[in-house]
Amino acid sequence: MKKTHDNKWIDRWMQSQSVPLWGAADIRELCFRMGEEQEPYPNAVSWAIPMPPDIMAGIKNGPTQAYAQAYTEVNARITEIAHSLSKAIGQKGFRAHPLAASDRTDLENIRGDFPHKTAATLSGLGWVGRHCQLVTRQFGPWVRLGTVFTEIPMIYGTPFNRGYCGTCRACVEACPAIALSGKDWKPGIEREEILDAAACDRWKKEHYAQFHKGHNCGICSSVCPYSPFPFNKRNCDEGIKTFNIRSEI
Ligand code: SF4
Ligand code: SF4
Repeated sequence: MKKTHDNKWIDRWMQSQSVPLWGAADIRELCFRMGEEQEPYPNAVSWAIPMPPDIMAGIKNGPTQAYAQAYTEVNARITEIAHSLSKAIGQKGFRAHPLAASDRTDLENIRGDFPHKTAATLSGLGWVGRHCQLVTRQFGPWVRLGTVFTEIPMIYGTPFNRGYCGTCRACVEACPAIALSGKDWKPGIEREEILDAAACDRWKKEHYAQFHKGHNCGICSSVCPYSPFPFNKRNCDEGIKTFNIRSEI
């Protein structure tokens, strides 16, 4: 039988690396090239590594040393996986390029080369909440993301095309920088419509400089009721109804 995709191979590879959640995205419309490369990449492999839930639950009032350490470790693991996967795909004869975790290449606009969230929503890993972060079914927003661009053939996941925040505004109200507009995400929306990245960045630098020179906060993620059970219970008890629609996703 003719082989048409490598999802099973990648699935086994991800399992060998203890990656619990991954998907494939069709990014042909984005025409994305890395650096000087001539040919755009048609596909992206996207994956999520969960952050320790007890640490995430403990940053509702601001980042902690434990969070900063976990952030560093998970990012390092994501970057390691990205390089290993790119190499493994290359050994199968296909072009692949890793995207580093949380690597700001455009300091002025506070952006990387490509948003990990775009690959994640297109591959069906999750949707973007009012806190401008990916929300996954399995781990809520308490994840960090990795991406590899490639031309290896894959079956794509089903992209998300809307958010599921419902009436919740927990993150908007909790953000100390007043950086979240409260607007719902939809594919193609400009980040600026949801997040004032400059205000977020300024707050972190002014108040949390001791954590990665002001790169950490996470309050908006910590308070999200989509965080994994049992950490979401308190928020649900407070009347947030968002979970009523969870069966849709
Ligand atoms: S990371 Fe902190 S400052 Fe930035 S949007 Fe979230 S809560 Fe606000
Ligand atoms: S805290 Fe509420 S509004 Fe913010 S992303 Fe989570 S569900 Fe959406």
